[in-house]
Amino acid sequence: MEEVKGAPSGAAADKNGLIVIAGAGGFIAGALARYFRERGFTWVRAIDKKPLDEWYQRVPGVENLCLDLSDSKNCERACEGATEVYDLAADMGGMGFIERFRIECLRSVLINTHLIEAAWRAGAQRYFFSSSACAYNTELQKDPQVRALKESDAYPAMAERGYGWEKLFSEMVCQEYWAERGMKTFVARFHNVYGPHGTWDGGREKAPAAICRKVIEAKDTGSGKIMIWGDGTATRSFMFIDDCVEGIDMITHTEALVARPINLGSSELVSVNQLVDIVEQIAGVRLHREYDLTAPRGVAGRNSDNTLIKSILHWEPSTPLRQGMAKTYAWIAQQYALRKAHKHVVR
Ligand code: NAD
Repeated sequence: MEEVKGAPSGAAADKNGLIVIAGAGGFIAGALARYFRERGFTWVRAIDKKPLDEWYQRVPGVENLCLDLSDSKNCERACEGATEVYDLAADMGGMGFIERFRIECLRSVLINTHLIEAAWRAGAQRYFFSSSACAYNTELQKDPQVRALKESDAYPAMAERGYGWEKLFSEMVCQEYWAERGMKTFVARFHNVYGPHGTWDGGREKAPAAICRKVIEAKDTGSGKIMIWGDGTATRSFMFIDDCVEGIDMITHTEALVARPINLGSSELVSVNQLVDIVEQIAGVRLHREYDLTAPRGVAGRNSDNTLIKSILHWEPSTPLRQGMAKTYAWIAQQYALRKAHKHVVR
């Protein structure tokens, strides 16, 4: 196996080939568009159904299109001339969203179904699909001291209702496009991604951003307290966005990973209480904690087993949580201040 550490994106031979990124008005795909541009890729097409002024990032030099990719014609338009296609478009959010809107989550199946067909028809050489740790069997995640999940733990299947089953099915579609039609497909199962330029309020935000916002609000209002969803003992690992986009690039350009779903996540397991500790330290406050035991909280524990990614890429996401959270906190604090000042929020 060729050593690829430190050389991401070098594997993509043609820096002038068209890279299509779906969901690029969102958090991860927006960062991916920036990542490829910064590495000298000249033609990046970013697509999202949201109006442009709602995109988290608009990267200079990128072709931006507003298209609803649950429609097959729009997928054809999106993939015209594509060399590589990255599907990160999904109707999703944190536990508050995916437990409540299972139908919307399931409907994201339309996006991958039409996009992969359009990519194949367009002659794309590589196709990436963003799966999730929610595809794993929930029976294995009932204890906060969870055994880290390895790739084979998805089957026998008992994925997260709605969202997780959509991911599992779409993974299978990707595998068959390789098996039956010969298009190289790549699937990463992300474990909780966080960082600047992501959702931090409004109901779709995930725990790291929500906790940052709540601590910022508590400081700002002087309330001295924070409401935590669940009892604080649930455990998770959290991957910083820079690791995520680097990992996507490496996975998509590694032949050993064709049609082989792989974990992309940090293996630094923390409880929700520990995550709150970290944010409090960053903010320089101690807050009184209240626990909402009726709030959505997901599985009791979940961690990423990185044996496979380390053996194939000689790499794993490694940004320390404290470091990534400091950057995330600073960005959310800035957004909060801008909003409060009734200024236009430049994302
Ligand atoms: P996000 O919500 O920030 O971005 C998703 C984007 O997809 C949004 O901008 C949305 O408008 C767009 N979209 C939705 N439906 C669309 C449609 N029909 N046509 C075009 N665009 C559409 O989410 P994210 O955190 O950036 O997640 C990206 C991908 O990674 C998703 O597939 C998600 O399921 C997966 N994932 C994310 C995490 C995480 O922690 N953020 C964890 C596991 C998996």
